[in-house]
Amino acid sequence: MPYIIPVPDEVSQPFWDAVQERRLIVQQCTACNTLQYPPRAACQDCNSDQMTWVETSGKGHVLTWGVLEDSHLPVRAADQPLNLAVVTLDEDPNINFYSNLPGTPVRQVKVGDAVEVTFVEAPDGSLIHEWKKI
Ligand SMILES: [Zn+2]
Repeated sequence: MPYIIPVPDEVSQPFWDAVQERRLIVQQCTACNTLQYPPRAACQDCNSDQMTWVETSGKGHVLTWGVLEDSHLPVRAADQPLNLAVVTLDEDPNINFYSNLPGTPVRQVKVGDAVEVTFVEAPDGSLIHEWKKI
């Protein structure tokens, strides 16, 4: 399955470095303890810029899902239809990830399905985080 290759910036670089080591980390605010993803320069709750990184369990659940059938992105054209799920992290339901649920046949998804992070190889050999049903 082709993937769009991410381009890390200064804020997201630690996240992508961890993904290359098959680890899923999220930001945590040292002022108010809020967990945060995607990475931002400041806390979404208290605006502190004192952010650190914490390891996650890599476990989550499907919050909602749909099927991508008419993407105009050429990189996706050959794969459609394609699952597109929103996954919530078990540690914090406010943290969401998007996933195509690789290995799960299209539409074989239910809200509440348990998932865990997995890492797939992009065309350039780098790893990208994804989620699979468990
Ligand atoms: Zn905060």
